[in-house]
Amino acid sequence: MFSFCLKLGVSMNTVANNILLIAGDSADAPRIQEALAESGSEPFKVEWVRQLTDGLARLSKGGVEAILLELLPADIHSIETFDKLLLAAHGVPILVLAGEGDENIARQAIERGANDYLLKGRFDSYSLQRSLHNMIERRRGEEALFIEKERAQVTLNSIGDAVLSTDISGNVSYLNVVAESMTGWSCQEALGRPLDEVFRIIDGVTREIATNPLDLAVKENRTVCLAPNCILVRRDGFEAAIENSASPIHDRKGRVTGAVIIFHDVSAKRETATEMSHLAHYDYLTDLPNRMLLKDRLTQAISSARRNGNRIGVLFLDLDQFKHINDSLGHAVGDQVLQSVAKRLTACVRRSDTVSRQGGDEFVVLLPELEHVEDAGLSAKKVLNALSEPHRIAEHDLHVSVSIGVSIYPDDGQNAETLIQHADTAMYQAKANGRDNYQFFKKEMNIRAIERQSLEGSLRRALERAEFVLHYQPKINLETGAITGAEALLRWQHPDRGLLTPSHFVPIAEDCGLIVPIGQWVLREACKQSRAWLDAGLRPTPVSVNVSALEFRDKHFLENVCAILKETRLEPRFLELEMTESVLMARVECTACMLGALKVIGVRLTVDDFGTGYSSLSYLNRFPLDALKLDRSFVHEITSPRANNAAIVRAVITMGKSLRQRVIAEGVETREELAFLRDQHCDEGQGYYFSRPVAGDEFAKLLEADEPLTIVNR
Ligand code: C2E
Ligand code: MG
Ligand code: MG
Repeated sequence: MFSFCLKLGVSMNTVANNILLIAGDSADAPRIQEALAESGSEPFKVEWVRQLTDGLARLSKGGVEAILLELLPADIHSIETFDKLLLAAHGVPILVLAGEGDENIARQAIERGANDYLLKGRFDSYSLQRSLHNMIERRRGEEALFIEKERAQVTLNSIGDAVLSTDISGNVSYLNVVAESMTGWSCQEALGRPLDEVFRIIDGVTREIATNPLDLAVKENRTVCLAPNCILVRRDGFEAAIENSASPIHDRKGRVTGAVIIFHDVSAKRETATEMSHLAHYDYLTDLPNRMLLKDRLTQAISSARRNGNRIGVLFLDLDQFKHINDSLGHAVGDQVLQSVAKRLTACVRRSDTVSRQGGDEFVVLLPELEHVEDAGLSAKKVLNALSEPHRIAEHDLHVSVSIGVSIYPDDGQNAETLIQHADTAMYQAKANGRDNYQFFKKEMNIRAIERQSLEGSLRRALERAEFVLHYQPKINLETGAITGAEALLRWQHPDRGLLTPSHFVPIAEDCGLIVPIGQWVLREACKQSRAWLDAGLRPTPVSVNVSALEFRDKHFLENVCAILKETRLEPRFLELEMTESVLMARVECTACMLGALKVIGVRLTVDDFGTGYSSLSYLNRFPLDALKLDRSFVHEITSPRANNAAIVRAVITMGKSLRQRVIAEGVETREELAFLRDQHCDEGQGYYFSRPVAGDEFAKLLEADEPLTIVNR
């Protein structure tokens, strides 16, 4: 084998086209070499081999741009030889040189894959060179295209998105790897099939077949996004949420020739979004719609009610005394009660109604399709009923009643906020009416609610502004008429409304917890006053202080009593604490402990408003009580023949004596009442008949006078 560069003086950086010439020893070979010697800008470097085997060996080394194959004249093996060469050429173009009489064989070679042929006697340098150049250029072009295609293929397969293309009639023409796995179709299988068969999409909400974006992309010649909530159904039925777009494909002249759909799996993203939206709209504890979702639904219900002219009901629920459950049994039990309540509420309303949790122990039920206003009342009754059975939680049977306020659209408000607020106001009225009932909103309630709000605001500032005062009402020994003690009664010198008695503000202070610091102030003030009377040389007079439930249950209560007694240097026997039956009977075990501790200190203990609660007599016996204060409702009309009051008063006095507890009659207003009580040997009395509650210095005057109080200060 020998080779030579045919163009002499070719500069070193000019790349020559390597031509492999396979020709026998005929004179044609030198002629060819000569014909290629004078080439233009791209010279030819001819390597001439005589045998096919040498040619194949040379080809395997690479670097050959084109092959010139001389077909031997009328050789029966010529085509066989050609086939062998074609196989080894791997796309290197072949130009066949045939004798004048062998044109047929040359044509056969073309049919089998040769690129061109020339007849030996008929070619010249120009046509040979042009033929070779064309072949080489074409090959290079094809190679470049192939490389580009390969690169595109690799790129399409390495992106995370699925790519699917179709021809103009909507038949699949390509799927990348991701598209293959997401559709379940291999590219091979999908080729030529209608798009709808390979790319099955449905609407995630309606489950109906989704419109394929491709038609629109082709028709309108623009990029079109897939419908939201689009779900791709894989060949095996597996579903995945997808997102993205379809665009038309153009040819060089800008004509649409097909379309490409690019999509990706957004299941995880959609799931997270769904979860996030659930968290934002549902209560974590009960999984009920929260305040925000309720407001949305109520607003929607209002706009549809406005169109259809129907009514909407809003029930605002607050559990009664839920705080006691939380305080006594702990938050875990409290949480379970809320969950159990949520379940019962959901079970007792219609599917179209919304039960939501506002927070804490507050729930709201939305009744969006009310035919009659009374239906809201019926729903409220159902709720009361559903909650009347005890909840069995952690081996406790817990009774949880509920107070419900009802507001109606459009009567009680035009928007969600007002309706909820008015139902809330009505709920307070239900609480005030003794709990475990429902109340429809009335306009007057609103005024009360506003008043209440403003009162709460100024109540918060009353302590620091020193607006509270104590008045004292004497307790009288009914035998002697002597003053036995003073009950401290709180008054609020309100900057705008004048002197307010406790009924105007103590319930509010109890609700918002302010009663604890206020109670502490009362205790200190009362002890100071008693000390001052002693220091002034007046007769030692025990002072009574009213203690409400929240104060009594406060964990610092005992500590505070001790600290205040110490600070005011008052002997404990000069302090008497008054608690109502309901305070004492809630959580009797704790009550017994606390009373025991107070007794050890030496403080005196009295049951206030006796007869109005539901005291268990066995507990009354167990508690270390000093006195029973008979409620004034029994003392009132004691002498009227119509009432049973006389019998009750008699019974209480007898019971007090047998329990060795003093009995004090409250609200003595008349001479007759006094006479009756004295007849029954009631120990003490208190009331307007003896004296109204008076300021501390006036009380001092009563003590100074030191005379039996009969008709003074009436
Ligand atoms: P209470 O402890 O039963 O106090 C007796 C109430 O009856 C007082 O009302 C007193 O003014 C009133 N009263 C006395 N004699 C008569 C009478 O002959 N006829 C009539 N109709 N009423 C009479 P007040 O001062 O309005 O207090 C009402 C309630 O407020 C008290 O009832 C007590 O439960 C509560 N309270 C008063 N001061 C305090 C306090 O410092 N702390 C707490 N937590 N509650 C207090
Ligand atoms: Mg009292
Ligand atoms: Mg009382």
